[in-house]
Amino acid sequence: MLAHLDLGALLERHLGADRVRSDAEALARYARDASSIGPFPPEAVVFPSSAEEISVVLRLAYEHGFPVTPRGAGTGLSGGALPVCGGVVLSTERMQQIKEIDDVSFTAVVEPGVVTGALQQALEAQGLFYPPDPASLGTCSIGGNVAHNAGGPRALKYGVTRDYVLGLDTVLPGGMPLRMGRRTMKGVVGHDVTALFVGSEGTLGVTTKVTLRVIPAPRAWATHLSIFRTAVDAGRAVTQILRSGFRPSALELLDGPSISVLRLHGNHAFPPGAGAILLCEMDEEFEALDRVLSLCSMACAQAGAIEQRATTEATERARLWSARRAVYPLLVATFPRIHVEDVCVPRGRIPEALRRLDMLAAQHRIPTATIAHAGDGNLHVGLLRGAEPDRDGTEDERLERMRADLLRDILRLGGTIAGEHGIGYAKRHFLGWELSPEMIALQRKLKMVFDPKHLLNPGKIFSEA
Ligand SMILES: Cc1cc2nc3c(=O)[nH]c(=O)nc-3n(C[C@H](O)[C@H](O)[C@H](O)COP(=O)(O)OP(=O)(O)OC[C@H]3O[C@@H](n4cnc5c(N)ncnc54)[C@H](O)[C@@H]3O)c2cc1C
Repeated sequence: MLAHLDLGALLERHLGADRVRSDAEALARYARDASSIGPFPPEAVVFPSSAEEISVVLRLAYEHGFPVTPRGAGTGLSGGALPVCGGVVLSTERMQQIKEIDDVSFTAVVEPGVVTGALQQALEAQGLFYPPDPASLGTCSIGGNVAHNAGGPRALKYGVTRDYVLGLDTVLPGGMPLRMGRRTMKGVVGHDVTALFVGSEGTLGVTTKVTLRVIPAPRAWATHLSIFRTAVDAGRAVTQILRSGFRPSALELLDGPSISVLRLHGNHAFPPGAGAILLCEMDEEFEALDRVLSLCSMACAQAGAIEQRATTEATERARLWSARRAVYPLLVATFPRIHVEDVCVPRGRIPEALRRLDMLAAQHRIPTATIAHAGDGNLHVGLLRGAEPDRDGTEDERLERMRADLLRDILRLGGTIAGEHGIGYAKRHFLGWELSPEMIALQRKLKMVFDPKHLLNPGKIFSEA
């Protein structure tokens, strides 16, 4: 598109050469994210260092008619940061300043490129806590978390990114800066446009600064790991734990195929017959830890746990968590063409969802490995394609049919087709399976209000570019 216009040169003229790349290596790198989608090479990548520079990029886009795709760290799994219509990728990776941490008002103000884990460490050093913890927290950015309303294991007790965003500084398509929200814990002035922006997948505006609510850090933690013969047993344990009178901060489930990958490649030992792991994290007052640990182990025993381990000691807790953290990278290394579906069911329907998943895997001959934020009913189902495309060429078709059947079943169970990874490019064709035509029409109108020329992150959420 725009063959007459050299976007790299145009941006260089306005922002300087050190803010722009259009060499082959950069175009290839920003043609992909952590999903298996693409490549979609942009025509140029721009690295602004301020809201003013972002404003210049969005003004030029409206003057010259080129698409802009915002990008944080590129860890998204639904293709949201891919420039599917070409144009420019706007990367926030040079905007990584923590502007302010206020331990009296319990707020933090950060630039969008700040890595989530780095913010958490800075806060912990001051006895503060920012709970949202996507498993990608070592690399993903706060701007990307806001755009996807990211969750993570601790969402079970503490909620998702939206619950911590008080205010946003943004730049709208066309270049107008707009501040929304507040710095106070409460506030009900006008429509909650901040909440609309959280989870809008970079389609309404570009976030240039985020004001977050933070909380005091919990005082004591315990981790409990239980092993079950089947994922369905572990799913039952989830229900038992949630009914037993305490709220874990995380309840994560790994199924049998995930355990096999850990055994084979990850140097982890599990007893014979292990078909699922449940990892339960608790943070409570010191005095309450023993009581919740025993409630947890009773619930797991009732659901048929074959082995249980528990600890309050930091190094040992990290060791128990290491299997959870290792499994996705190991799955990607073993099955480079893995496709991850992110779905969510009402908590009580987890065993049914897991049973249905097994049936679909057998029916479509696509093996799966499931990692779940099980306490939230949020299943990340890895559909495991072989390392190379199969000889008869049916694997991709079978995978697509299985995806569709899975999403249909999840909706039948009262669930949702996207728990925390967004619709992005990957699921745009399925939007109408969950939302009514009236709701889609309303959302399109909202998009038009903010972006009448449809140049900010086109091709995402809705099915046509
Ligand atoms: C190993 C692994 C584990 C993961 N675990 C979790 C998990 O537990 N929970 C979870 O929720 N997700 C998880 N994810 C998915 C991903 O990390 C999150 O969606 C994350 O929020 C994306 O952040 P990012 O900075 O990489 O964004 P990107 O991938 O760069 O972009 C994501 C979206 O945000 C938009 N965007 C980025 N920055 C801005 C901005 N400044 N203004 C406007 N729009 C912007 C982009 O246009 C795109 O639509 C995981 C991913 C991986 C690879």
